[in-house]
Amino acid sequence: MSEKKNEFLKKTPFRIKRYYAYILATIVGLSLPFIRINDNHIFLLSFDKKQLHLMGVAFDMQELYLMPFLLMLLFLGIFAVTAIGGRAWCGWTCPQTIFRVIYRDLIETKLLKLRRIKNKQKEPDWKKPENATKRVIAIILWSLIAIVAASDFMWYFIPPEDFFAYLQDPTEHMFLIGFVLSIAAFIVYDTIFLKEDFCAYICPYSRVQSVLYDNNTLQAIYSTNRGGNIYNENKEKIIFKQKDLPNEQDECTTCESCVTVCPTHIDIRKGLQLECINCLECVDACTTVMGKLGKPSLVQWSSTNEIEYNKKTKFFRRSTIMYFVALLIVLSLLFVMGGEKEHMLLNVNKTTELYKIEDNNKVSNNYLFLFQNTDSKKHKYNLEIVDNKDIKIERFNPFLLSPHRMRKKVVILSTTKQLVNDNTKDTPITLTIRAYAVDDPKISVLRKAVFVYPRADKLK
Ligand code: SF4
Ligand code: SF4
Repeated sequence: MSEKKNEFLKKTPFRIKRYYAYILATIVGLSLPFIRINDNHIFLLSFDKKQLHLMGVAFDMQELYLMPFLLMLLFLGIFAVTAIGGRAWCGWTCPQTIFRVIYRDLIETKLLKLRRIKNKQKEPDWKKPENATKRVIAIILWSLIAIVAASDFMWYFIPPEDFFAYLQDPTEHMFLIGFVLSIAAFIVYDTIFLKEDFCAYICPYSRVQSVLYDNNTLQAIYSTNRGGNIYNENKEKIIFKQKDLPNEQDECTTCESCVTVCPTHIDIRKGLQLECINCLECVDACTTVMGKLGKPSLVQWSSTNEIEYNKKTKFFRRSTIMYFVALLIVLSLLFVMGGEKEHMLLNVNKTTELYKIEDNNKVSNNYLFLFQNTDSKKHKYNLEIVDNKDIKIERFNPFLLSPHRMRKKVVILSTTKQLVNDNTKDTPITLTIRAYAVDDPKISVLRKAVFVYPRADKLK
């Protein structure tokens, strides 16, 4: 690596890494819906097919008992990451931040030269016709990207193969097209007009973050010990020029580079604020300023313990250990529950007629069986009664069922033997029915059914 590049990386320790993180998150977000394992998706919540796909396994709506575990994983993961690395998700992977970086830093700044990366506070003069034209171009470009982003969002609910098939026949799928365009319109409004206000006032995560922070949480922190107090205890700014700093050794140059670069328009020297998304742009800015003076940055990605109290940051502490233990438990439960997935579903319901008695005292009961093939292959299903040799399956023929399809079957069970001799009442007899795929020994389910045998005086 050239000396110049080395020097650049030294001066901006997080900028390049941040852009790599944005590129990686974008590639993952865009490509994930297209990756399939055994014909199933890595993640898909299809309301159309009433299915959840997870890591290449398809679960039907009846199996959505996994959903609470997924939500627990999501929340515990966010809590753990926040307790350790602050709002790392916000500054480094959140789509909102990536949208803003693409629109503000790439389109408006790099492409159209409307702004400067180093000064995100200064709005271009929109009254200038040249700037107004550039703004229109920026909005058009962003609108096109927003349509791709909205479609990508939909691919987690409607798989891309169906999505593109639906688009071939737009008149039949106006609702889908309208929905995608509405999401795109919101993304345009959010990115161009709502901006970082979304992070500060709408996103609930910013509200809970301070509860999850402690003195060991990594975040962008200004060292008042080295730089000096720019704000008083009431969070009022008291220092505007370096010469006003009370101590000679206070190092802040009051250049405001850390303030102007901040996408959420805050001054990190004021302390922790809920608007801070942990993007570390202020760290990069101060690294450059202080680097020129041969000193380390006054704003660091570190913990309060390290910066304020000169103590080592403790990554393994009570709260983080508890989060990881809880994560491990939920993850294990998810694997156990996911492993118990049934590759066929079967509902057994008795019809309203209790029983039928034929001339030779043959008694029959009718049932409605609902079969569902939740596997990704076609299977042939059959039935057997496992715990009652006297009751036979009178009407049912093995049949083929395609993947993810359902079929209703009327099944008749009957007996010619006298099972009970009771003159006072009909007798319910519980029996166990096994439904199985004849072509796959792993696919088998057991269901209880009730066979009603008539009172003795009804028999001839
Ligand atoms: S203070 Fe501003 S620039 Fe610094 S990490 Fe927070 S949001 Fe980013
Ligand atoms: S960039 Fe560093 S030196 Fe400049 S105002 Fe911010 S903290 Fe002070």
